[in-house]
Amino acid sequence: MTIVTRFPPSPTGFMHIGNARTAIYNWLYARHNNGKFLVRIEDTDRARHSEEAVEAILNGLKWLDLDFDGDVVSQFSQKDRHIKVANEMVTKGQAYYCYCTPEELEEMREEAKKAGRPTFYDRRWRDRDASEAPEGIKPVVRIKAPLDGETVIHDEVQGDVTVQNEQLDDFIILRSDGTPTYMLSVVCDDHDMGVTHVMRGDDHLNNTFRQKIIFDAMGWDLPVFAHLPMILGEDGSKLSKRHGAVSLEDFMARGYLPDAVLNYLLRLGWSHGDDEIISREQAIEWFTMKNIVKSAAKFDFVKLENLNGHYIGEADNEKLLELMTPFMKERHEIALGSDTTAQRRILAAMDELKSRAKTLLQLADESAFFAKKIPYEFDEKADDILSQDNGEIISLLLDKVINASELTNDSVQALCKEVAESHKEGKLGKVAMPLRAALTGTTVSPSVFHAAEILGKEETKARLEYALTKFSKENSAMSA
Ligand code: GLU
Repeated sequence: MTIVTRFPPSPTGFMHIGNARTAIYNWLYARHNNGKFLVRIEDTDRARHSEEAVEAILNGLKWLDLDFDGDVVSQFSQKDRHIKVANEMVTKGQAYYCYCTPEELEEMREEAKKAGRPTFYDRRWRDRDASEAPEGIKPVVRIKAPLDGETVIHDEVQGDVTVQNEQLDDFIILRSDGTPTYMLSVVCDDHDMGVTHVMRGDDHLNNTFRQKIIFDAMGWDLPVFAHLPMILGEDGSKLSKRHGAVSLEDFMARGYLPDAVLNYLLRLGWSHGDDEIISREQAIEWFTMKNIVKSAAKFDFVKLENLNGHYIGEADNEKLLELMTPFMKERHEIALGSDTTAQRRILAAMDELKSRAKTLLQLADESAFFAKKIPYEFDEKADDILSQDNGEIISLLLDKVINASELTNDSVQALCKEVAESHKEGKLGKVAMPLRAALTGTTVSPSVFHAAEILGKEETKARLEYALTKFSKENSAMSA
């Protein structure tokens, strides 16, 4: 039997991180078993439907590099089939027309409430003859739910879950305007797409008991179910916007790598011994439902960030350059894509840059100085350091740089040492700090000695001269 899983998001405009995890698990299960991973868009809510929302989902899958089999299925496009199934159930006596008006339903609810009974529809049309149908009222179609006994769902994560059938109502499968309800459409599509395994959030567990009624009525095989526990925020409540990032887009914008997010979400609710760092290939090899964790997992942003740091450290340098390019534009208005000099410099420093960075944002921030053009801005801290220095150290450094034949990591360090020794401060750090401030305009960067080597003699000289004109005593006196 070919295993077929599916990812059927409703296009809400973004991909919740919980949905992303569901997609990952379904994808892994299919790939582990050489099965199929199908994507269906549950787009029946036409009033709120938008193509951009569908795009957001497909982009998310693409970003996570989860390939799917066949074409994306639109649930809405299967509408006629769903209606046909509902009618078939009516013909077979497993569903029926209900002509209750909204007022009647309201009255029914009120009375049940008063009597302390469940406020279910009281099934008054379940066994009535079609000849009793009132004129001019468009009926809904309701399923005949079992009246007694119990229903058991064998869930791969939750174990056997039982519900007393008296708790299941004769829910609507076709609305009075003839459109199918979610409950009906999901079951029809899962059957028609040959889905063998349904892995989804445990907020759908209650629906499963209702969906089973439809599977049974149609004589269709029930898929294997696995309901995944929720993802919680650090305070133990369901992960939502107020915990910070909640959509996949938020994680993209925060500079996480797809592999890190995949690894993190995989571990959040599934385990393989004590393994924390799990590659895509290992994940495919190891993923079974057996190790899905039964309890809800708390999202730990610090852990994700550390994992991301690991993946940045491992990533290919050219790839990182490409991935940080949009962040350079967004945060520093630097068009890295067309600046080959900056690209070359950043690549030369990448081994060091990537060993420090936890996110692509940090990577972009700490390498932006390589792309700076004179005149550039100095941030507040760099400004402070250079104002205090008043150009003293910078002019000493400038002299040494002018006289150096070329700059290397070691030669820059050596000339900084010489300046430190000749200066009252005497400490290398006291020289390296203003050097860093002058060359980068910031106080955070990889090794400034190496940075000077990469910038080269001419650029280093130009940047020191620039800082000198901006911060030297004479200059401020002159312009005062
Ligand atoms: N469209 C549903 C959702 O986005 C998924 C339903 C299902 O997995 O059966 O939550």
